Amino acid sequence: MTVLITGGAGYIGGHAVLAFLDRGETPVVLDDLSTGSRSAIPSEVPFIFGDVGDTSLLLQIIEAHKIDAILHFAAKIVVPESIADPLAYYLNNTAKTRALLEAAVKGKVRYFVFSSTAAVYGNPNRATVNEETVPAPLSPYGMSKLMSEFMIRDVSAAYGQKHVILRYFNVAGADPKGRHGQSTANATHLIKVAIETALGRRPFMNIFGNDYPTPDGTCVRDYVHVSDLAYAHLLALDQLRLDGVSRTLNCGYGRGYSVREVVEAVRRVAGTNFEVRQAPRRPGDPASIIASNDQLVRLGWKPELHDLSVIVQHALAWEKSCVIRV
Ligand code: UDP
Repeated sequence: MTVLITGGAGYIGGHAVLAFLDRGETPVVLDDLSTGSRSAIPSEVPFIFGDVGDTSLLLQIIEAHKIDAILHFAAKIVVPESIADPLAYYLNNTAKTRALLEAAVKGKVRYFVFSSTAAVYGNPNRATVNEETVPAPLSPYGMSKLMSEFMIRDVSAAYGQKHVILRYFNVAGADPKGRHGQSTANATHLIKVAIETALGRRPFMNIFGNDYPTPDGTCVRDYVHVSDLAYAHLLALDQLRLDGVSRTLNCGYGRGYSVREVVEAVRRVAGTNFEVRQAPRRPGDPASIIASNDQLVRLGWKPELHDLSVIVQHALAWEKSCVIRV
């Protein structure tokens, strides 16, 4: 039985590929290379170039590779972009997930693991959010993922498929062995932007908003190391195969850092005092969002890379190595 990873050439999907390889399993990757890169996929991994919304292609892959589980990472993930172009997000993230689910049902795929997001919670007025917190997305991105969650639950109920929905908090860092990292061009995520600025690839960076109801006025997020997150997928899938219980799980550490704290961590780790400018709030940003991760920890999740300095070190090492490879 084989696992299919959609978006396996991308940032998080690529780390999941490595996590499977590290324990001696070879997954199959489907990716349209819209943001991912072919070179990110180790040569021993079967790669199919294609679209997750192509149901007939998916059926062929499921049959040819005897796929029993799909890990669905392929998605668009930029909040401001989703506000500017919501239809692109409802097509890519929602409509294509529906097409993929149809293929999974027709192909009798038993297990479905879905990359969801803390953005489904919107701006929760509480210190930490657990999985029972009522979702209220602030952006089409969060809504596109929440709509997929509803479809996945309905599909499980109707056709007997089992699923795990993983709600990622702010994913950052890179493979500790330097094999993979975030290579997306024009990245907008905070740690990546700060590191690019530290390395002189951007003249300065902006802090979006300083009047939020948080200790220093900047937004607070729960940054989770991508390799700890990749490991959570294996754990969740193993448990799903064992007990067949569908679950929705938060993936974060339960500790928040403000934008200013992140900037200071990057300055410290990189050893450089890059320029930071204050800018207006960015639309769609909640003030603070921190995971309650009790459910994932109870399943046996043992994150090892939760120190913010370690996350920044790995991201920085990756960013430097990208230039060496060019
Ligand atoms: N942020 C910032 N400057 C940047 C990028 C991000 O101040 O150049 C802030 C952003 O407004 C948010 C936090 O950093 O408050 C995390 O944003 P990111 O885009 O990394 O992740 P999101 O929480 O939107 O998924």
